[in-house]
Amino acid sequence: MSQDIFVVIEHLRGQVSDTSYVMLAGARQLSQSTSGNVTAVLLGHNAQGLASNLAADKVLYMDHAALAEFTSDAYQIALAGLIQEHSPRAVIFGHSSIGMDIASGLSAKLGTPVVSSCRAFTTDGKYVSQICGGKIMAEGELPGPAALVTMVPGGYKSELGQSAQAPALTTVSAPTLEGLRVTLKQYIEPDTSDVDIAKESMLVSVGRGIQNKDNIELANELAAALGCAVSASRPVVDQGWMPTTRLVGKSGKRVKPKIYLALGISGAPEHVEGMGESEAIIAINTDPNAPIFNIAKYGTTVDMFDLIPVLTEKVKQAK
Ligand SMILES: Cc1cc2nc3c(=O)[nH]c(=O)nc-3n(C[C@H](O)[C@H](O)[C@H](O)COP(=O)(O)OP(=O)(O)OC[C@H]3O[C@@H](n4cnc5c(N)ncnc54)[C@H](O)[C@@H]3O)c2cc1C
Repeated sequence: MSQDIFVVIEHLRGQVSDTSYVMLAGARQLSQSTSGNVTAVLLGHNAQGLASNLAADKVLYMDHAALAEFTSDAYQIALAGLIQEHSPRAVIFGHSSIGMDIASGLSAKLGTPVVSSCRAFTTDGKYVSQICGGKIMAEGELPGPAALVTMVPGGYKSELGQSAQAPALTTVSAPTLEGLRVTLKQYIEPDTSDVDIAKESMLVSVGRGIQNKDNIELANELAAALGCAVSASRPVVDQGWMPTTRLVGKSGKRVKPKIYLALGISGAPEHVEGMGESEAIIAINTDPNAPIFNIAKYGTTVDMFDLIPVLTEKVKQAK
């Protein structure tokens, strides 16, 4: 058993994901308590160039046509062999659809425990996981002798996982990758016919508090007066009141407008993940204990159905 920390690099269409750099930064911290090396594991096809700025002590690169795009099938077979051969202390994956897909399968295959939603590591090698949708931070000992870890962003700056100097790269041979059950058929591009809420400098965003589809017209009128677009929380999109292109949050878009006006949005972690970096959040919510007020710069507990028409009128007059 080695004390090295493996980081499985995520990449999509020739680009290393930001999460991979965050994982490398986390791995560096963890390696200080294990006194092992940080090894980036890069699987792909003609993809060795992606290793050039990884802040790792070394890179294990495996090249195979079946690894050109991520599939759980091929990745799990390839990684199972590498992990059994090198016996690292921990293997870190992104807490993404890709990482969770591989880590869960590998855990079953290798009988190795998974630590999920890890945000950071402490100086003495404990993990800190973000559980219950981010409401609780749980600290624990990394299970031994080996553990798989899925890591959420937010605990480390991605720049810490990047290096100006290319790490040493070792090409390892791929196992037989035949008879795979999962193949990538196509990428489904997001709908670009609608307004791109990620590019808006101001958003009027509606939550479940809007009650029904007809009431969205109130938000549309306010947004028209302000000259901005309307976005939404997930229940509004799930009900079919607004298209998915307007969804803000974990399963939607990440937005960073100058002003984010949240109408009847509670501020659940999955929503905040997509708008928490807005410059000024203004919340209208009748519940004074709604978590949105923890991140709002300005807020009011006035009923939005009383406030929105008046606000719209005032904006029109001011113009
Ligand atoms: C894996 C996963 C992914 C998810 N991804 C997302 C995501 O991408 N985006 C997202 O938004 N959610 C997402 N969610 C759902 C998320 O957990 C919350 O359920 C959701 O954000 C709640 O939406 P809301 O704030 O509109 O509704 P609620 O939590 O029901 O809040 C409605 C708020 O409106 C207020 N209100 C009611 N009436 C009025 C009124 N008249 N005037 C003013 N205020 C009023 C209430 O006080 C309440 O706080 C995800 C959940 C999971 C598990």
